[in-house]
Amino acid sequence: MSQIYDRVALIGLGLIASSMFWAIKRAGLAGEVTGYARSEATRDTARRIGLCDRVCDTAQEAVEGADLVVLCVPVGAMGVVAQDIAPMLKPGATVTDVGSVKRSVIEAVSPHIPEGVHFIPAHPLAGTEHSGPEAGFAELFDNRWCLLVPVEGSDPEAIAKLRALWEGMGANVDEMDADHHDLVLAVTSHAPHLIAYTMVGVADDLRRVTDSEVIKYSAAGFRDFTRIAASDPTMWRDVFLTNKDATLEILGRFTEELFALQRAIRTGDGEHLFDYFTRTRAIRRGIIDAGQDTDAPDFGRGKAGS
Ligand code: NAP
Repeated sequence: MSQIYDRVALIGLGLIASSMFWAIKRAGLAGEVTGYARSEATRDTARRIGLCDRVCDTAQEAVEGADLVVLCVPVGAMGVVAQDIAPMLKPGATVTDVGSVKRSVIEAVSPHIPEGVHFIPAHPLAGTEHSGPEAGFAELFDNRWCLLVPVEGSDPEAIAKLRALWEGMGANVDEMDADHHDLVLAVTSHAPHLIAYTMVGVADDLRRVTDSEVIKYSAAGFRDFTRIAASDPTMWRDVFLTNKDATLEILGRFTEELFALQRAIRTGDGEHLFDYFTRTRAIRRGIIDAGQDTDAPDFGRGKAGS
């Protein structure tokens, strides 16, 4: 793969930025990658592990001369960061982000983008429950989707370059409208995370089940909720605060279905339960057929993880 940008700046050096750095290096997609993180501790860690060719002490220094600037901070911090770096953005540069919510990021960032600079929001649908500069790895985006959410009037050439970067990092790329993105992600990611957080919270509250039993017998489904519920609190707080409408809409539907299942259990309506679970099993099959998860028993954990 050949070089796409001369200089890329990563602002925020957590899981996504560090994975981008290693994926960019793996394929030689940029001449130089600079990086900036808010805390000195994160910048020190980045320098120690060789994350970024140059770690800068200010965001402005990191973006100076960059052809591509990637905002990799929590969704709620995007606007402030964009405002900070705006005076240093090179004419003709592209600013993008990796935020999990798109409409609010567009509203927060767009007003700060100077004339002559392109803004192309994006969202890689890949992640883990780990965060921070040491959590990243080059393969994170392999065969995952990255959604580009171009704003009106976006430059086709700038979009094509960003698409090439994501493809070079191993991702499949699609384009989507911001509102549709936020609704789709509310179904596929945001509501499931809230449900996992709730389920783990409920188990924690249940005094009848001791802590040790919750942990000892967690393989029976609960363990997968705990993995999701270990996700970064700042990131997920911001997701729910900024994707309010879509998440509430999906949670409303979820509650209705939950009541219907509750009723089926109470009235002994086995047919309803069986039909429902048959439908959900088919959805799981579709995800495996699309190559987005493993069919291995116990998610491929094998004996070691059980
Ligand atoms: P992360 O590992 O927690 O790293 C976040 C980075 O942002 C850190 O470098 C942190 O700096 C910095 N930061 C936090 N608050 C800030 C603020 N107020 N101002 C400036 N910098 C700040 O996060 P991540 O998982 O990489 O997520 C980054 C973005 O990617 C988020 O917008 C998230 O929605 C999106 N995303 C995440 C996932 C996922 O599964 N994790 C998947 C797709 C997209 P310090 O370390 O110095 O505090």
